[in-house]
Amino acid sequence: MKKIAIIGGGPAALMLAAQLDTKKYKVTICERNKAVGRKFLVAGDGGLNLTYNSSIEDLLSKYHPIDFMAPIIEKFTNQDLIKWCNEHEIPTFIGSSDRVFPDLEMKPIEVLNKITEAVAKNKVDLHLETTWAGLNEDGGLVFEEYEDAMFDMVVYAMGGASWKVTGYDGFWAEDFEDLDIKVVPFRAANCAFSVDWNPNFINTHKGKPVKNVALTYQDHVSKGELVITDFGLEGNALYPLSQKIQDTLLTEKSTIVHLDLKPTMTVDQIKEKYKSSTLEKATDILRADLNLDRAAVGIIKRFSDKETFLNPDLLAEIIKAIPVVLESADELDKAISTLGGISLDEIDHNFELKKIPNSYAIGEMLDWYAPTGGYLLQACFSMGYVLAEHLNGFAVSDEEE
Ligand SMILES: Cc1cc2nc3c(=O)[nH]c(=O)nc-3n(C[C@H](O)[C@H](O)[C@H](O)COP(=O)(O)OP(=O)(O)OC[C@H]3O[C@@H](n4cnc5c(N)ncnc54)[C@H](O)[C@@H]3O)c2cc1C
Repeated sequence: MKKIAIIGGGPAALMLAAQLDTKKYKVTICERNKAVGRKFLVAGDGGLNLTYNSSIEDLLSKYHPIDFMAPIIEKFTNQDLIKWCNEHEIPTFIGSSDRVFPDLEMKPIEVLNKITEAVAKNKVDLHLETTWAGLNEDGGLVFEEYEDAMFDMVVYAMGGASWKVTGYDGFWAEDFEDLDIKVVPFRAANCAFSVDWNPNFINTHKGKPVKNVALTYQDHVSKGELVITDFGLEGNALYPLSQKIQDTLLTEKSTIVHLDLKPTMTVDQIKEKYKSSTLEKATDILRADLNLDRAAVGIIKRFSDKETFLNPDLLAEIIKAIPVVLESADELDKAISTLGGISLDEIDHNFELKKIPNSYAIGEMLDWYAPTGGYLLQACFSMGYVLAEHLNGFAVSDEEE
């Protein structure tokens, strides 16, 4: 029976381990932490968004590069993941925004336990506190804590480079570069961006959400919520634009996003509403008639001079397209996900590393991108599932040999 080592114990690895045919393979997970799935639990802190309930076309449109990601997601879709969860006693529900979560009664640790139960039932060995540290001259795996070990196949699933506390030690990228495998430098994705607020503005509005906004960047529009922070802006309206913004910031010192504080109304409708108000003060009209919250009014004041603020026509224009200058992404460690990782040129369509036969890489350690909204976990689970199907397809069981 062939021996497979899975390096890392995140969602991609766990799905793979649960789905591999253990009549054909002896499977061992090597995880450096004392427990698997730490980033998965961190993801659960803000609501464990497992996937997104949309048509397959809409789902695929969120992934980059689409050519690489589409066949993976098509083979294990959002509906397949929901079904898989339900079959493994993880009931799910679709939230009002079409995001899919585990049942409200279920804590993230209980979800993780159900997944690890599936792995244990599949008779997979779990080696915790086992840190991969490269390959020896014979191609054997080098571990920090143990003797080197030989496996017939190795699947690397060590995750992206953010949130070091959950497991990234900063070293696997160097180890792969030593093996002549191209690793695209990591950059923050789904992250905050800096804005040069003035101190008074920050003191008044820090931590405040600005709800129901739209951001336009290049030809992309993203709707949702923003939060004003000391650093700048964050929130689910900004995250989907993070890859494009980061690409611009590779060559430019700053870039501008346009903030629409009233996406449900046109400029003309805003003017009309404003002019028909019985109130006198601009601030009162914005708050009461246009239903803008305090932080939104603060932003309008921050981005308009007195003449604009007191002129309904100019004010309507600015409400619909506030030019916010973004200067840099927040630090990598605070990002929800990372751009960069093992270059997709280094693997074939079955995730096999071209330069190291019988070695594969899946999950966030590869260089792909998706926004928050469940798309990240969906992709990691899909990769684990699809690789298991591939490996199960060509192995033979002991009885068949
Ligand atoms: C704050 C936050 C919130 C998030 N919320 C969501 C969400 O709601 N929905 C969503 O879809 N996604 C979310 N994500 C992203 C999602 O959690 C990740 O994309 C996903 O966990 C990546 O899975 P993975 O299996 O590739 O790697 P990881 O989950 O990062 O797992 C990799 C594992 O490899 C281990 N490892 C690393 N190096 C070694 C080594 N040298 N030897 C052995 N083991 C090693 C690590 O300890 C870790 O356990 C969130 C992320 C963060 C940080």
